[in-house]
Amino acid sequence: MTRPKDIEEQEIGWRVFEHVAEMGPEQQLAWLLEFLQLSSDNLWERWPDLRIEAGAFAFGQPQTRPIDISRDDLIGLVRQVSEGVRTLASGREWRLEIPAITKVYLPRVVKGRRGKLQFSGWDSQRAVSDFRTAFLAWVDDLISDRVAGARLRACARPGCGRLFVKKKRGIYCSQRCSQAERNKRYYRSLAKKDRQASRHDRYVAEVKRISPAAAKLVRRRTKENVE
Ligand SMILES: [Zn+2]
Repeated sequence: MTRPKDIEEQEIGWRVFEHVAEMGPEQQLAWLLEFLQLSSDNLWERWPDLRIEAGAFAFGQPQTRPIDISRDDLIGLVRQVSEGVRTLASGREWRLEIPAITKVYLPRVVKGRRGKLQFSGWDSQRAVSDFRTAFLAWVDDLISDRVAGARLRACARPGCGRLFVKKKRGIYCSQRCSQAERNKRYYRSLAKKDRQASRHDRYVAEVKRISPAAAKLVRRRTKENVE
């Protein structure tokens, strides 16, 4: 006899899996990067929820039982992977050491029109029971994905360096970083204009010393009046 709590856990496992199964490699990579960049405390605090998703990604199936991993092992795993991913993002090579894994092939079922379930090919699944190995194998699949792996970047804003999945030609992790860099460029150009202005003032003062009448005729050089 299954207890209601088990049923509830299984339902949550399925619902999360449905959501996760619809995510392409790029979205999965974005999820991974968020996950890797949580602080240790945050990671452990949110783990009861995150492990359902992490397990669904790693094992490729709904999680009906909590993943059993200690805080230290989880933090160690996340640290190992994030260092590796950072190495990759900086254009250097990173080789993941994963124990040999047996893959099994299972039919992929998708929701078709009017919510009808349809067969749509085969999915490989990792026949491992150990979360760490399954997680590393999933990471390996993601970073070797031609599209997603090639979009892995570290934010170009000095002092940020956050890992993200590049969209179009973006080089910053967020709107915030990109705006901050734009502001910096703007203030830099203002400061440059200020320096030019004070140079102009010194020039006018110099001309005035020689001829007050001529000083009145001094105009600032602009694109329009410079021929
Ligand atoms: Zn950033």
